[in-house]
Amino acid sequence: MKHVVGGGIAGLAAAYRLQRQGHDVHVFEASHDLGGLAATYETAGDRIEQFYHHLSKSEETIVDLAAELGVDDRLEWLVGKNAYYVDGVVHPLDTPWEILAYPHLSLYDKFRLGMLTLGADFRELPPRFDSYESLEAYEDVPIREFVVDHTTEGVYENFFEPLLDAKFGSRKEEVSAAWLLGRIKFRGERDLLRGEILGYFDGGFAPFIDALVDAVGRENITTGARVTDLALDDGAVSTLTAERGGASETHDTEGVVVAAMPNVLEALCGYECDIDFQGAVCAVVTMDAPLTDTYWLNIAHDAPFGALIEHTNFVSPDRYGGQHLLYVASYIQSSDEPLWQASDEEIEEQWLSHLEEMFPDFSRDSVTRFRLARNPRAAPVYERGYLEKVVPYDLSEVAEGLYYAGMASRAQYPERSLNGGIVAGFECADRIDTKGNADRSGRAVDEVAGEGEGDRVVTGGET
Ligand SMILES: Cc1cc2nc3c(=O)[nH]c(=O)nc-3n(C[C@H](O)[C@H](O)[C@H](O)COP(=O)(O)OP(=O)(O)OC[C@H]3O[C@@H](n4cnc5c(N)ncnc54)[C@H](O)[C@@H]3O)c2cc1C
Repeated sequence: MKHVVGGGIAGLAAAYRLQRQGHDVHVFEASHDLGGLAATYETAGDRIEQFYHHLSKSEETIVDLAAELGVDDRLEWLVGKNAYYVDGVVHPLDTPWEILAYPHLSLYDKFRLGMLTLGADFRELPPRFDSYESLEAYEDVPIREFVVDHTTEGVYENFFEPLLDAKFGSRKEEVSAAWLLGRIKFRGERDLLRGEILGYFDGGFAPFIDALVDAVGRENITTGARVTDLALDDGAVSTLTAERGGASETHDTEGVVVAAMPNVLEALCGYECDIDFQGAVCAVVTMDAPLTDTYWLNIAHDAPFGALIEHTNFVSPDRYGGQHLLYVASYIQSSDEPLWQASDEEIEEQWLSHLEEMFPDFSRDSVTRFRLARNPRAAPVYERGYLEKVVPYDLSEVAEGLYYAGMASRAQYPERSLNGGIVAGFECADRIDTKGNADRSGRAVDEVAGEGEGDRVVTGGET
């Protein structure tokens, strides 16, 4: 029996793939719900993710998995309108003429920014189109230095810096140019007349995760069971202990995939990962009227939140019983920050007052519900030298039979995503399967060799 620690998307994907390869698998999930960071709230209609979620057109593994699970007909590609809030004005930034009309960048700034997003290096003429192909080349380059060198000071100060402030706060100087380039490549298709094309399931991500859970089989998953210990025998994982309802149970295991944050991995086996994480505080505000007509509103303004994501400008409010749903989101870099320390009621008061100040037509009387989610490890800080810190999928250097599919894995770079979680889960399953096949064929050759060739020993490595 193989075991998976964590019933988020990565753990479920690992279990699903291992089963397809013919392995017996059991998943332990510490909380009472499955789906991890993709957990949902109820609304008057479909469920809604506690933290905003959508897919990019560049993500393919999740689309393939949806097809395997028979839920691809529920995947919709919708337009998500982007805008920038500067000095009290919402500036739409989707179509070429909206971008041309944006007053906070010069025409030359816009040209250089446009060229960078198309992957063209215009520092010399003729421009080069292959400069940004290898992200690794920019791993140690500070983001500011890169943007100023490859575009203009204006592009950095008036476009990227407010976005970096919102995403990385005081740590923005630590982020690498490779992350920025990766993000630009990660963003998928744009409809030049309408905006960015983003994916979302009819019914949200919950039906997709439910389909994955059904495929794995509820009988192969235990919720409310926190894995607390892994024991080794002769350098290989041999048992796994989980605590459930005050009792602890120990199971023999032939292999373990840890599909949780790296601090969980460290607690279980001592493997230290130097990646720092940032936390997120994210509200879903239910309103009886829309706030704006934008899906994703970046805020270049002294606000206590970094982005306003009006979900019902992306998916129709009809799906939510006519309710309008707005995410108000902020990242925190340390648990000492006042936002992390504040109570839910304090945050509600502060954020709604700020919305009233920023949008004179908005009144908190239109708010019918304010739900707040917090997570101390919502995303890695993609600082310089990040790729050297990722946790390998195969941790046989620590213990034979130990694998890692959590957020510190390579598939979750340059942005963490559900797709990345699935890729990480699949990568671990494939390594387990390949190693198992190699061991089996090694054994088979041993047996044959033992029968026919006297005492000649053929090892797995020689086959
Ligand atoms: C604010 C925010 C916005 C996001 N936006 C998007 C988006 O637009 N698109 C997108 O694709 N992705 C988005 N993501 C990222 C996406 O949610 C994650 O990449 C993905 O859910 C990670 O899945 P995971 O399985 O690796 O980890 P998790 O979801 O964290 O799952 C790990 C699971 O392990 C469990 N666990 C921990 N310790 C133990 C233990 N000892 N024993 C047993 N179980 C344990 C946890 O309870 C948890 O359920 C966003 C995330 C956040 C926070």
